[in-house]
Parts: sequence; C-alpha cells; structure tokens
Amino acid sequence: MKKHNFSAGPCILPQEVLQQASAAVLNFNDDNLSLIEISHRSKPFVAVMDKAIALVKELLNVPEGYSVLFLQGGASMEFLMVPLNLMKVDGKAAYTNTGAWAKKAIAEAKSLGEVAVVGDSSDTNYNYIPKGYEIPSDVDYFHCTSNNTIYGTQMKKFPLSPSLMVCDMSSDIFSRKIEVSKFDIIYAGAQKNMGPAGTTLVIVKNEILGNNGREIPTMLNYNTHISKESMFNTPPVFPIYVSMLTLQWLKDLGGVEAIEKINQEKADLLYGEIDRNPLFEGTAAKEDRSNMNVCFLLTDSSKEEAFNNMWNEAGISGVKGHRSVGGYRASMYNAMAIESVQVLVDVMKKLEQN
Ligand SMILES: *Cc1c(COP(=O)(O)O)cnc(C)c1O
Repeated sequence: MKKHNFSAGPCILPQEVLQQASAAVLNFNDDNLSLIEISHRSKPFVAVMDKAIALVKELLNVPEGYSVLFLQGGASMEFLMVPLNLMKVDGKAAYTNTGAWAKKAIAEAKSLGEVAVVGDSSDTNYNYIPKGYEIPSDVDYFHCTSNNTIYGTQMKKFPLSPSLMVCDMSSDIFSRKIEVSKFDIIYAGAQKNMGPAGTTLVIVKNEILGNNGREIPTMLNYNTHISKESMFNTPPVFPIYVSMLTLQWLKDLGGVEAIEKINQEKADLLYGEIDRNPLFEGTAAKEDRSNMNVCFLLTDSSKEEAFNNMWNEAGISGVKGHRSVGGYRASMYNAMAIESVQVLVDVMKKLEQN
C-alpha cells in the first residue's frame, strides 16, 4: 500500500497524476514517443505549455496584464531574479524576515542594494508572523513569504505595500484563494504544491519590468522569458507536464475554493488533536498556524521512540521536523487526503491511550 506521505517537499502528488505522468513517459498522446523525447517546440508539447499557463490563469483568476512563466532554478533563483529585475542601481527593498527562505531571499537582495527588514520573527525562531510593521515608501519593492514551510507559520493577511508587492508562495500556492491583482510578482517552486522539482512558476505584472536601469543577464531577465513564452531555451518539459496534470486535477476537484475548504478541514482535524492531546503541543503561534505545514512537539520526550514506531507502522512517512526546529512536521499539501490525516490523528490518540 502507498504510504501516507507528509513530506514537506518534494511533496505528495495525486496518484492519478503519477499514473498519467508515467504513462506519458512511455507513450505520449498515443504517438509512440515519450513526452521527454519529443521536441519542446512540437505541437503536442506547445499544447502542454499553453494548457499549463491557461490553468494557472483560470485557477488563480490572473488578471490581464500579467505573464505566467515556467522557469528553472527553483524559488532560490527567484531570490536573485526579483532584485535584479526590480531593484534600482543604488536601490532599496523592504523584506520580512520570517524564516530560513526569507533569510536567503534577503541575502540575495543585499548583494544588489540596501535591504530594510520590516518584520522580523527571528527572535523566537520564527514561530510567528510579524504584524503592524510599516513599509517605507521609498523602497523599490516589498517582499514577503506567504507560508514558512520550516516553521509552520502562514500569513493570513497581506499588508498593503506602498511600492511593488512581491511574494514567495512556494509552499501554499493553489492551497487558498489569493487576489493576484494585489501582487506584482508571485513565485513558487513547483515541488511543494504543484508538481515535481525542476520548474518555478512566476506570475509577473508586465508593466513593472524594464524600469530599474540595470543590465540584466539574458537568462535572468523576466522579459526574455515573457517574450519567448517560457521557451527561450529548452523548458523542463516533464515538471511542466506533471504540473499541468496536477492543475487539471485541481480544476476537476472544484478549483482553489474547493481545495481551500478541504485544507481547512485537514488543518482543523490535526490542530484539534494537537490542542486536545496532552502529549502534544504546537510550536507556531495559534493565529499564524499554517494549513500546509503543521509543526508540533511531544510534551514528554520519553514517548519519542514509541511514537516514532507507531507512525512508522501505520505507514506514515515524512513527519520528522526540520533539523532547525526539531520535533515533528506534518505537511498536508493539496493532494493529501483527509483520511491520511486521520491515520496520523489516530496514532496520536493511541499513544495517549497506551
Ligand atoms: C522550498 C522553498 C523554497 C526553495 O525552493 P527551491 O525550489 O528549492 O529553490 C523557497 N521558499 C519557500 C517558502 C520554500 O518552501
């Protein structure tokens, strides 16, 4: 039987998507060729790319004037591409520092200009989302991380930015409704909620580009990829194809609105048990708890071995916490069924009864 995969990333994908994807590797479109051995400029693959882009636009309600790109280099490459494309020479940007990924984004921006950190939760190992900070009006853009994968915190609201608004949504894109028009750049590595590693989704407002007075290397220039519709060079065909299948799966399920409800039910189920069961405690501030990554500890460390054996035997995988937080982290991305969450909750109950 397939394991209950709570991995934080790369993450669980729908079983039917895996089946379709493996079939396409052998024989794509009944043409007796593999998806990964045909030209990316062939009609069948161009249709895949077009469909993937159309699904992103439909599922997120992307307004006119935005481009949807499938790039490479992961979200980590966007840490550099964002300042390269938006920060003026001798420019300045504002960042929230809400976790390890935010910190890496800040480091890249600092290599190109000044960074004002406007909300910082590093004082408590990032267990909450800073609020009420002011974003200086003289910055070129403001950058935040919507969901902090390692610490299990999630921005429930976004501040109004006096300048451009950029968000790393790697670990919660397509999990809840967002208003794309409030953002100028949204980016997300595929492997948290959309597909396999190897492609990065970027949604960018066209009119904000080309105004920062920098010489931008070709591959790192968003305009390169916009003008070539993500086909400036060979795109990662397999990750894009699997992402397209996952987005189609999401659409068939009822879209982002439907999955948001399911994700809320899963989160209520697991956090409910963490709060009820005296053997467990959550690590993130309650109002900032992530619906994607649930971080928790055992209150009695002598139960660790028993708990580990029990979830292992129940076919659960990937619930060990990140090394910088410890404890446990159950990631419940879109493809995770509530039945799998129930298996984990049952193990937690059983531990208490023993
Ligand atoms: C995983 C993750 C990243 C890094 O993504 P890569 O694609 O591995 O570069 C960045 N930001 C967040 C929020 C993440 O969860």
